[in-house]
Amino acid sequence: MSEPTIFERIIDGDIPGEVVHETETVAAFLDANPLTPGHTLVVPKEPYSRLRDAPPDVAADVFAAVRTLSPAIEEAVDADATTIGVNDGTAAGQEVPHLHVHIVPRFEDDGGGSIHTVVGSFADLDDEEIHGIATDIESRIG
Ligand code: AMP
Repeated sequence: MSEPTIFERIIDGDIPGEVVHETETVAAFLDANPLTPGHTLVVPKEPYSRLRDAPPDVAADVFAAVRTLSPAIEEAVDADATTIGVNDGTAAGQEVPHLHVHIVPRFEDDGGGSIHTVVGSFADLDDEEIHGIATDIESRIG
């Protein structure tokens, strides 16, 4: 058996965590290093590493919890908006190999950017290249 992830240890009560929501398949707790007040992580209880590894019903449960939690969190911390995101893979910044959705409350004056700022530039692609990518993606889903 592999070592439990840090998030499993929180779910199991082995290490402290501020759990705000729990269902049969999903748990949510405050991030220990919050970007803003109320920064919350929503995880499947099973330690699927990436979104693609979670069965569709579990992924649906995770996103249903995100949908329920995000307005509650906004209200709790009097936020103006919310950024919701997944660092899905190490190159995207994923540090904990247990799928988690970040719910980050946002404030008019928090100084942060939108999802469009995560890479810091835009891809320079012509229409043909964009169409080629679209076709490739479509063919892989079938
Ligand atoms: P990521 O870079 O997407 O893998 O984010 C991992 C997140 O887990 C970071 O925002 C950390 O602050 C958070 N984190 C790490 N350890 C804990 C912990 N013990 N309790 C709550 N959040 C944690």
